[in-house]
Amino acid sequence: MRVSTIASLIGARQVGEADININWLLTDSRSLCFPESTLFFAIRTPRGDGHRYIQDLYSRGVRAFVVEEIPDITASSGECAFLQVENSLVALQRLAERKREEYDIPIIGITGSNGKTTVKEWLYQMLSPDMTVTRSPRSYNSQIGVPLSVWGLWEKSQIGIFEAAISQPGEMEALERIIQPTIGVFTGLGSAHQENFQSMEQKREEKMKLFAHCKTVFMPTPGLSALEADRDLCRQVCRHLGMPDDVIEQRLAQLEPIAMRLEVKQGRHGCMIINDSYNSDLNSLGIAMDFMNRRPDRADRQRVLILSDILQSGVPPRMFYEHVAQLVQMRGVECFIGIGPQICDHAACFDQLQAQCQFYPSTDAYLQSQSFAMLRDSVVLIKGARSFHFEKITQALEQKVHETILEVNLSAVVDNLNYYRSFLDPNTRIICMVKADAYGAGAVEVSKTLQSQTQVGYLAVAVADEGALLRSNGITKPIMIMNPEMTSFDTLFEYNLEPEVYSFRILDALIHAAERAGITGMPIHIKLDTGMHRLGFDPETEMPRLIEKLQHQTALVPRSIFSHFVGSDSDSFDQFSSEQYRRYLIGADALQAAFPHHILRHMNNSAGIEHFPDRQMDMVRLGLGLYGIDPRNDSIINNVSTLKTTILQIHDVKAGETVGYSRRGKLTRDSRIAAIPIGYADGWDRLFGNGNAYALVNGQKAPYVGNICMDVCMIDVTDIPCQEGDHVVLFGDQLSPSLLARTVNTIPYEILTSVSHRVKRVYYHE
Ligand SMILES: *Cc1c(COP(=O)(O)O)cnc(C)c1O
Repeated sequence: MRVSTIASLIGARQVGEADININWLLTDSRSLCFPESTLFFAIRTPRGDGHRYIQDLYSRGVRAFVVEEIPDITASSGECAFLQVENSLVALQRLAERKREEYDIPIIGITGSNGKTTVKEWLYQMLSPDMTVTRSPRSYNSQIGVPLSVWGLWEKSQIGIFEAAISQPGEMEALERIIQPTIGVFTGLGSAHQENFQSMEQKREEKMKLFAHCKTVFMPTPGLSALEADRDLCRQVCRHLGMPDDVIEQRLAQLEPIAMRLEVKQGRHGCMIINDSYNSDLNSLGIAMDFMNRRPDRADRQRVLILSDILQSGVPPRMFYEHVAQLVQMRGVECFIGIGPQICDHAACFDQLQAQCQFYPSTDAYLQSQSFAMLRDSVVLIKGARSFHFEKITQALEQKVHETILEVNLSAVVDNLNYYRSFLDPNTRIICMVKADAYGAGAVEVSKTLQSQTQVGYLAVAVADEGALLRSNGITKPIMIMNPEMTSFDTLFEYNLEPEVYSFRILDALIHAAERAGITGMPIHIKLDTGMHRLGFDPETEMPRLIEKLQHQTALVPRSIFSHFVGSDSDSFDQFSSEQYRRYLIGADALQAAFPHHILRHMNNSAGIEHFPDRQMDMVRLGLGLYGIDPRNDSIINNVSTLKTTILQIHDVKAGETVGYSRRGKLTRDSRIAAIPIGYADGWDRLFGNGNAYALVNGQKAPYVGNICMDVCMIDVTDIPCQEGDHVVLFGDQLSPSLLARTVNTIPYEILTSVSHRVKRVYYHE
C-alpha cells in the first residue's frame, strides 16, 4: 500500500512528499527488519512514547512515520513522510479495519480466558493443508497486536484466524471493528483474577462483544476437560466449514501440542540456550530473534541461530528464505546453522550475509559433525519444526540436570506486575523486591525481565553482593540495598548501589567512607521505625539530629524516606496501620521541610498496594505479589514458580511394613510407594513428612509417607496410576506455597526462599 493511500485511509495530514510502498507496520523500534518498506507508528502508552525512537529509526533507514506530533529531526522533507494524526494507536486500528474490509473471506475471531492460542494454532494445523490461512502470530491479541495481525492478510489469504484479548471494559469494540469476525469461537471463562472487571458477568459480556456481527458462534460442549474442549471447538468449526467427518477425526488425531514458551536454559561452555518449539513461520522467528536480542546479557556474546526447514504454505521457498536471510542479517546473528534438505537447497540465499553460515541435511548430520561442541559463551536460539527433533540438539547442548527443577514463568512475573499496577496511579513507581534471589525465583533473570518495564523505578535487594551480582549481569536500573553491611561500602560505591540508612551508626560510617572515597551526592534511603521495631529512625524523636547530620555533609543525599507496615495483610491491624502511617508522615514531613528537592515517599508492600491504595504516595514496594502469591489469601494471582521433580522408583509395599528412617511411615494397607529426589537439603521442610502435606502426581494428591530424608522422600501413590519417570509437582499452580506453608505453621515467603541453590532454575516465557 502506498503511503499516500494510507494517509487518506486513516485521515492523516501528510508532511513530506515521500510516497513509498509499505509492506510492514512497526510499533516497536527494536523489531525493525525491512526499513525501506516499513511504516512506523509512534504510539504513546503509559509506559513509553514511540516518538522518542523516530530519529534512531530514521538513521536506520525508515522513511515513513505515523505521528501525533511532527518531530524535529534532521531530514529533508522530500525524503520522509510524516502522517500526522490525533492518536497513532487509533490510526493503526483504523488502517487495519480498512485492510480487513478488502477481504470477503471467512474470518474466525477467537476469545475467552484460556486456550485461545491453542485453538487458533490447531485450527491452523487442520485447515492449512487445504487453504491459505492467515493468523495472529503467537498470541498477538491486544489493542496493538490485533491490527498488526490483521495487516498480515494478503491476496492469497482464503481464511483468517485471529485471537482477541481484553484487560478492561471498552476494549473489545475496537477489536471487533478490526477483526470483523464472521465466525466466533468462545473458549470459555476462567475464574482468573478479575482485575479491571466488576464481575464475571461483566467480563463475559465484554468478551461477547467480539461476536456482535457473527452469524455463528461456537462454544465448547459443557463438561469437557480443557484439552477436550479445545479439540471440540476445532471439530465444530471444521465441520461448519464443510470438512468431512473422517478428515476431521484424522487431522484431530495428528494435532501437535502447542509450545507457547520460549525456554531459556543454561548450556555447556557458558552458552545460553533459547529453545523455541512454537510453530515455525517468519513471524514467530522474528519474535524469537527479538527475544534473543533483548536479553541484556547477550552483549559480547556470539549470537547463533539454529533453524530447520520451515514449511510455510503459500509462499515460494526462495522468497521465503531470502526473507529469513534478511532477518538474520538485521538481527545481527553471527553464526547461522541451517538444517534440512530445503534450506540446503536454498543456501545461496544466505551468500551475502556477514554471518558465518553452515548447512546440514539433517539433525543427525549436524550432531555427528560435532560442530556444536565448539560453541562457547554464545546465545543459541534453537528453532525447528517438530519433525526435525531439535530436542536432540537441546539435550546435546544442555548442562546435566539434577532431576528436581524450579520452573519459573517470567511472563507471569510481568502479568503480576501489571495486576498490581492496576491498583496504582500511572505515575506511581514500583520498587520490585528481588531480595533473597527474587524470593527464590532467581534475581538475575527476574530483574532482566523487569528492567524493561518503565513503571519499575527500582529493584531492591537485601545485601550489597546481591546488587553487585545484578550489575555484573547487565542490570542498569537503580538498585536499593535494604540492609547494607558496614564492610560492603566499597561495593556500594563501585556498583552504584543505593543503601538504606536506618541508624546513626550506619549513617556516620557511610558518610565517613564516602568522604574518604571522594564521593558526593550519593542517593540514600531513610528508613523510619513506625511500629515494627526492627530497623529505622524514630520519627518522633530522632529527626532533628538526623536532619542536622544530613545537612552538614555533601557525600549523601536523601533520595527517599520510607517505612514498613507490620500487618497490611490483615484487616485486624488496620487501626495500627493507620497509626504507623501517621507516625511516618511526621518523619517524612520533617525531613522534606529541611531540603529543597523532593524526597520520594513509600510505605506499601504487596498487601498494602491492594489494601491501602490511598497510601501509595510516590512509590510502592512490591514483593510477594510479584511472584504470584496473593498475600491476603491462599490464592495464586498468576503462577510464577513450579517446583517439580520425577519419580525415581516405585515399590509395592505390604500392609504392616514401614517406610523410611525410624520406621515412622507405618502402612495400614498394601501400598505403592514412590521415591522422589527432593529432601531437606533441597530446602524441603522435614515437617511435610508423615502425611502432613502432599505432592501432586498426574494432578492427584500423593501424601508424603514417613520422614523426609536428606535428598529423597517417599510419597503414597497407591490410588494414582503412574510410573517411574512421571512428573511430580511439589508446589505450583494447583498446590500453592501458601497452602503448604499453613500445614507446617509458616508463611509462603519461607517456602519460596528455602528452595536451595542446588535445585536448578529453568526459565520460560509464554
Ligand atoms: C521484603 C520487603 C517488602 C516486600 O514485602 P511483600 O510483603 O513481599 O510485598 C517491602 N518492604 C520492605 C522493607 C521489605 O523488606
